[in-house]
Amino acid sequence: MALIVQKFGGTSVGSIERIEAVADRIAKHHASGDQLIVVVSAMSGETNRLIGLASEISDEPCPRELDMLVSTGEQVSMALLAMSLQKRGVDAISLKGSQVAIKTDSFHSKARIKDIDSTRLHAELSAGKVVIVAGFQGVDDQGETTTLGRGGSDTSAVALAAAVNAAECQIYTDVDGVYTTDPRVVDGAKRLDSITFEEMLEMASMGSKVLHLRSVEFAGKYGIPVRVLSSFKDGPGTLISVDEDNLMEAPTIAGIAFNRDEAKLTMVGVPDTPGIAYQILGPIGEANIEVDVILQNVGDEGKTDFTFTVSRNDLSRAEAILETHISELGAMEWRSDSKIAKVSVVGVGMRSHAGVAATMFRALSEVGVNMQMISTSEIKISVIIEEKFLELAVRALHSAFGLDADEAGDTDA
Ligand code: ADP
Ligand code: ASP
Ligand code: MG
Repeated sequence: MALIVQKFGGTSVGSIERIEAVADRIAKHHASGDQLIVVVSAMSGETNRLIGLASEISDEPCPRELDMLVSTGEQVSMALLAMSLQKRGVDAISLKGSQVAIKTDSFHSKARIKDIDSTRLHAELSAGKVVIVAGFQGVDDQGETTTLGRGGSDTSAVALAAAVNAAECQIYTDVDGVYTTDPRVVDGAKRLDSITFEEMLEMASMGSKVLHLRSVEFAGKYGIPVRVLSSFKDGPGTLISVDEDNLMEAPTIAGIAFNRDEAKLTMVGVPDTPGIAYQILGPIGEANIEVDVILQNVGDEGKTDFTFTVSRNDLSRAEAILETHISELGAMEWRSDSKIAKVSVVGVGMRSHAGVAATMFRALSEVGVNMQMISTSEIKISVIIEEKFLELAVRALHSAFGLDADEAGDTDA
């Protein structure tokens, strides 16, 4: 008998029919004797619908009320799934984040989990129940409802798995595992049997939304084995392995990630003096805006250009900051561009293989894609390009690194 945490994403609980199918799967598994905690997302499209309703009322709705609103999506699916299990004679109970309790900080819409009380969970499991928990939500010290950021139900699941010391955390979604790149963009993408935790972390942080970034962080920190599986068909899925046992045989590149959510800002003609980067990025950081790629050109006659990227959501705030600081920075002008995207190649095998950058740059040049900025780490290379070339670039890199499936029949996402 094992204790397993399972998470079902939006598409997997997207209709009554699908909720019933999930209930069948859980009922069967529960009958085998395992203890199950099941985390659910809102029905697909529901979180967007709720955010849309709020935006009809206000451009900047009160963060507390927005969390009160969007957290309802998960509560609908958890109750429906509990009813569906009860109909099958399975004892089940649904719990909100506050009932568990999943304690978070107070940053509405991007709260972080601080602690999970497992007392109630263990009590319900010992009573033989399947415990269904609303994903994406928690409660702060004042008892206020918080949410964990878009895609955050993955993080709820892995954090719960850590709290109860589960044998495995299974993330059921609409693809049958982690692929070499988004199978919706590249037909020939291949499912990976396993991917190292480090690679998955890099893939998620570079924009592969198959797993929420913080869920991967939790998995690594607490050594929780995570498996990504399809809720529609049986298969081995992809294991996120915490140990890099067969590094020797690791392919150079595990996968290609991309992110459209980027915008670029350039300060033109700033003085090429010590401290200039700090003067530009200091106020950006104080406004809690995360900076991603940074580029400072070689100075010319004491002046230089300074470019950095931020998330598109933060662009207008970043622009306002540059506008107020432009004169004191001694810059001639500033520019912004939101039609950019970032493509990254990721792989622990890069550590022992030279020439990855050359292969990447050649592949992009062959399809005529210009790189605007480049950033590297030990296991990834990212480039900023024009957004309209994104899919072209991802496909070119996928084949340049030999990731394309040999046969079209090889994939079945
Ligand atoms: P859920 O609602 O189950 O959380 P998501 O939409 O958040 O599902 O994540 C699954 C989606 O992630 C897939 O449908 C796929 O389009 C996308 N995706 C992006 N990159 C990858 C990748 N490397 N492997 C698999 N899926 C990916
Ligand atoms: N329902 C939330 C969202 O759409 C959380 C999740 O699905 O993980 O972002
Ligand atoms: Mg998701």
